[in-house]
Amino acid sequence: MKAADQFTLHEDRIDVISASGSSYQITLTRCSCKGYSFHQECRHYKQAVNLGLLEKLKAKSLSFSITLSDHAKKLRKEALKEYLTKQKISFTEDLLCTVEPQITCTMKPSELIALCLAA
Ligand SMILES: [Zn+2]
Repeated sequence: MKAADQFTLHEDRIDVISASGSSYQITLTRCSCKGYSFHQECRHYKQAVNLGLLEKLKAKSLSFSITLSDHAKKLRKEALKEYLTKQKISFTEDLLCTVEPQITCTMKPSELIALCLAA
């Protein structure tokens, strides 16, 4: 049986230890191996995509930046405000502050409304 590449998912990258013992790093846009720099694709990157690791990395980097950035928080609050106004749901500044951190990018509008009504 052929040894497999080992993938480890981190906050901002995926580490790969290849079957031959070399280690590489995969980010959202590239792999650090030689093959990738020649062909803009490689076995590691393809496998990371196939294993769904790249999607997970994307989700991580998204939640990472949203948690960190005050600017993003403000934008999310503004968007929430606009959305609630359109839906004719009354809200307070307190409600926005409570609900904003709980919003996820996979949330459905109905779930969002339920969250606001429960707050
Ligand atoms: Zn590679």
